[in-house]
Amino acid sequence: MNPLEVMENSIRAYKITTKHHRNFVDLKRALFLGWYCDLIDPCKFCYMSTQKNKIKNPKLARRKLESILAEAILMKRIGWKLEFISGGYGYTVEELNTILELVAYVQKSKQYLNVGVVDFESLNIEVIEGIVGAIETVNEDLHNYLCPQKPINKIKEMLLKAKDYNLKTGITIILGMGEKEEDIDKLLDLIEELELDRITFYSLNPQRDTIFESRCSITTLEYMNWVSSVRLNFPKIEIITGTWLDKLTNIGPLIMAGSNTITKFPLFSIFGRKEGLTVETEIKSSGRDLLGTFSDIDALSGKKILKNTSYSDEEVVISNRSMELLDSLKSNIDYKIESYISKILKRINN
Ligand code: SF4
Repeated sequence: MNPLEVMENSIRAYKITTKHHRNFVDLKRALFLGWYCDLIDPCKFCYMSTQKNKIKNPKLARRKLESILAEAILMKRIGWKLEFISGGYGYTVEELNTILELVAYVQKSKQYLNVGVVDFESLNIEVIEGIVGAIETVNEDLHNYLCPQKPINKIKEMLLKAKDYNLKTGITIILGMGEKEEDIDKLLDLIEELELDRITFYSLNPQRDTIFESRCSITTLEYMNWVSSVRLNFPKIEIITGTWLDKLTNIGPLIMAGSNTITKFPLFSIFGRKEGLTVETEIKSSGRDLLGTFSDIDALSGKKILKNTSYSDEEVVISNRSMELLDSLKSNIDYKIESYISKILKRINN
């Protein structure tokens, strides 16, 4: 990698991003359904792989619907779109349809789904905006070793099929697991082949009890190299970049390299605190306007409606059954919302 070239490419990437996406950066967050994955041989970097043997009853390792919906409502209030609805493998299509319908309804927004290879025939396509395939790495040997039960070809087939249903498509890529700079070309080929609408990059967040436990992640310049290469070759694609608490200062450089969206935060523990404020100032320091907030308590509490948001309300029609379920959960959802807010306020005041 030539660091000067990366910086020069990033300046070009920033300008191209401004031209095609205007001057905004937004915040997104994946909505997780639980912490159990059904795969017998789970992916070697994944937190869920470390939990599998500890979980006796997988059904109990799922979030309650009221908690999922409370989070979806709070996300809408603070102007963060859901990056996608995600969980380990093992959800039935009926379960997915119910969750998708309810989340889309409370957010007035169709959703992206990232739950493995899905059966489009049975999914309620009406509430889905797009499908994400968790490719994780384009280095095939590495992929086969790290994700033995997620063959790239099956994911590619699914993403190509999604186009037949007029769904948008995206992939996730984790950097820092042993990929090489030459793999950037493989990624560019894949984006072209699949005609992707979006890509999410994460830098590896090494999990305890995995083979990566004591590994360093990639450097900010390496990360910029991947992001700017995608931006320069695909000016219109949406680029989402993940950071983490120990890497918040890579946000500005990633935006310079062409990122549209920043993701992967422990939201409730840092909202309104210095880390949340750091995210906001990092984004603003890049010259971009921030959509959404990481600090506005009135917006979080529902006392005011945020104007600078990436949501534009869509009509979402759901089944009578889902509507009845939502009505029956209303007081539990309200309780959960208040409990999330009060925990956030306590952390801010401590
Ligand atoms: S499929 Fe997803 S949830 Fe399951 S082990 Fe792999 S990365 Fe983790």
